[in-house]
Amino acid sequence: MPAGFPDFRLGSVLATSFTATLTERQGDAVERIPTPHRLVDWLAVNGLAVDSCTTAQLDLARELRESIHAAATAAAIQDALPASAVHVINDCSIQGRAAAILTPEGKRRWRLSSASCVEDALSVIAADAISIIAGERDGKLALCASPTCKAAFFDTSQSRTRKWCDMNTCGNRQKKARFHAKQRKNPRSVE
Ligand SMILES: [Zn+2]
Repeated sequence: MPAGFPDFRLGSVLATSFTATLTERQGDAVERIPTPHRLVDWLAVNGLAVDSCTTAQLDLARELRESIHAAATAAAIQDALPASAVHVINDCSIQGRAAAILTPEGKRRWRLSSASCVEDALSVIAADAISIIAGERDGKLALCASPTCKAAFFDTSQSRTRKWCDMNTCGNRQKKARFHAKQRKNPRSVE
């Protein structure tokens, strides 16, 4: 990983891992794909390797990302889906060409039409977003309880009561904040 760039938050759901390339949307936002090269890195980590990426392709990726975020947020609060976001997601889904490939080990891989086609990779992400927003998969869209985050995430916990987009970051920070607040109120209590 090149030094100086924020690292990636990797989840198990492609579409929301992608929206998590911009974090702390309601606070001091952190852009985790600040350059075309970082989008190439992110795609490689997520099984969608491409050779190159232009600035225009990065712009398109970010437009898709924000559209998925808007649509997933609306779905999480059972609001009407924003038409412009739906349009961008559908456009990205239609424009790319990618094929699901079954490996001899029984795993699924994606094969893109060409190694430089970021649009192909984006179509896979758009289709993933469609499947969770449409409620096709086992889980529920929810919003992170952190006030500086509020990221839409896909809750696959059995009880569907997950509160944070990411336990290691948002979840931990909330826990620490609560602990310190408690300590201030009752300085002698030891936990
Ligand atoms: Zn969060």
